[in-house]
Amino acid sequence: MRNFEKNIRKVEPYVPGEQPQKKVIKLNTNENPYPPAPKVAEILETMDIDNFRLYPDPAAAELVKALADYYQVGEDQVFTGVGSDDVLAMCFLTFFNSEKPVYFPDITYSFYKVWAELYKIPYKLQTLNEEFRIVPSDYYGENGGVIFPNPNAPTGLYEELDVIEDIIFHNRDVIVIIDEAYVDFAGRSAVELIDKYDNLIVVQTFSKARSMAGMRIGYAISNPLLIKYLNDVKYSFNSYTMNRVSQLCGVSAVQDQEYFEACVHKIIDTREWVKKKLTDLGFSCLDSMSNFIFAMHPEYDAKELFAALKEHDIYVRYWGSERIEQYLRITIGTREEMEVLLAFLKEYMKK
Ligand SMILES: *Cc1c(COP(=O)(O)O)cnc(C)c1O
Repeated sequence: MRNFEKNIRKVEPYVPGEQPQKKVIKLNTNENPYPPAPKVAEILETMDIDNFRLYPDPAAAELVKALADYYQVGEDQVFTGVGSDDVLAMCFLTFFNSEKPVYFPDITYSFYKVWAELYKIPYKLQTLNEEFRIVPSDYYGENGGVIFPNPNAPTGLYEELDVIEDIIFHNRDVIVIIDEAYVDFAGRSAVELIDKYDNLIVVQTFSKARSMAGMRIGYAISNPLLIKYLNDVKYSFNSYTMNRVSQLCGVSAVQDQEYFEACVHKIIDTREWVKKKLTDLGFSCLDSMSNFIFAMHPEYDAKELFAALKEHDIYVRYWGSERIEQYLRITIGTREEMEVLLAFLKEYMKK
């Protein structure tokens, strides 16, 4: 072993879903099947490219203002980043500096573990119950912070706000982060609790419900003090994170409320329809409140099904990890895409 090896930070990186270069039915990374709001296309047409010479606004003030207006909070209560992955990474760095372990579920967004390892933060996985639900009392113990998504990923299960509040209430001495990447497909957001609990941070993204995964926009809503701490860390890391185009498009997307709601409703309708169709085919589907369905079939091996689908250019997500080795996560695409998926499954099961 070379001597420098011992000083190298070695990490096992997060594995993102595949981004194939050919055209496929892409149901593997929870992207939105519909284009971004029309206002986004409009603003791009009028954009002054000469401004690319200049650094972007490090505070992304216009976008912060648009989000503050949308959520009816102060501009000092919004933090933006390059996708919520960036926001979450900043949150781990800023808030999780205890010797005690940070708590998150055993089955959840697999990036949490990666950040904990990267920053050398101790963590403890809390086992979801048999129905893959969070057990609030598991989060009552002494810890260095709590993070989980609501709805959870990859289960899609949503916990009502009283469950979320119970966990925040029992953790007043640490920071609790609720990752709401999919909340627009589900129900009430924990944003309404931020005035009540000074230890709460809610993180959201433009990648899923707002059809802008390619623009990389994420944000956190909290109280001014925690947002200040986040900004201090951000400015100590990289000040010009979000580029000009993303900032501009982000503002337009937030302003197009009507289009956003229509898209979300279409996806929810398709989700409920697909859930029923999959159930008719013998699948067991968790009651997802998200833009994906987590499903298993008692008679067909998930790994084989995943491979067969891929062979036919239908991409879904499969992990094969403990407790979920028989599950596939299927993103909700357009109605037409889901029809192709269902037709394939029907054929597959005839054999
Ligand atoms: C998709 C996702 C994110 C990351 O989204 P960004 O594209 O980085 O904004 C964060 N958390 C969960 C649970 C997700 O599913």
